[in-house]
Amino acid sequence: MNYTLNDRVALVTGASSGIGQATALALAEAGAKVAVAARRTDRLEALAEQASGEILVLKTDVTDLGSVREAVTHTVERFGQLDVLVNNAGLMLNSPVLGADVTEWTRMIDTNLLGSMYMVHTALPHLLDSRGTIVQISSTSGRTAYATAGVYSATKFGINAFSEALRQEVTEQGVRVVVVEPGFVSTELITHITDPARLAMAKEMAASMRTLDPKDVAAAVLYAIAQPAHVAVNEILVRPTDQSS
Ligand code: NDP
Repeated sequence: MNYTLNDRVALVTGASSGIGQATALALAEAGAKVAVAARRTDRLEALAEQASGEILVLKTDVTDLGSVREAVTHTVERFGQLDVLVNNAGLMLNSPVLGADVTEWTRMIDTNLLGSMYMVHTALPHLLDSRGTIVQISSTSGRTAYATAGVYSATKFGINAFSEALRQEVTEQGVRVVVVEPGFVSTELITHITDPARLAMAKEMAASMRTLDPKDVAAAVLYAIAQPAHVAVNEILVRPTDQSS
């Protein structure tokens, strides 16, 4: 399906790789002006060269409220408005609770949960003005918890809870909140796991199935955003067909 997002302005966090990168490209392809945020600006610059539309590169650390505020301000200064926030930046550093490196817990909570909340807090006045859309990239781990993924799951359950409360606060003002819950997607995500046993398990899981491509998730995001204004697709769960749990 070809969707048109002409004149819409989107801000995508975690756009330097994986789902965020694919989503930014898909939104640009559909005609949106896209601000792309992450820490690795070389990757964002490469994306800007590859994309068909107008792209604004934003060096952003979502764990830093000042950096988040700058990203939103620059987006609105450059494009005049903000219609879509794709809140995607995230980390998955799985390990058992016993003996875990708790600095990894802090990083996941600061990035996945607090960073995502900072983005919403900062972007919301603009999204209320535009009657825009907030896409919250959660996970199947936001619906079910698994051993060794307790903290990651807690951040994603947290995103789901925050998103439902947010939805109730803003939907009657025309702002749509969409929670997207992907299953296993082939990206860099697992490569940051430091626990060797857990990293091996994640690689084994990836090899055991036809995983999703980041473009598959981007297509789901685009579908939700492109619906008519009176249609709020509030939740999308998208797993690889081969993934049973
Ligand atoms: P990637 O590792 O490919 O992408 C993660 C992105 O997050 C990168 O662009 C990274 O950019 C960005 N990021 C990390 N920390 C920060 C930070 N402090 N500030 C700004 N950006 C940051 O993984 P995915 O594409 O797989 O993950 C994207 C989202 O999808 C995550 O929220 C993840 O939890 C979720 N997800 C992924 C699944 C999968 O199987 N892959 C399944 C379900 C959900 P940089 O390092 O340049 O800052």
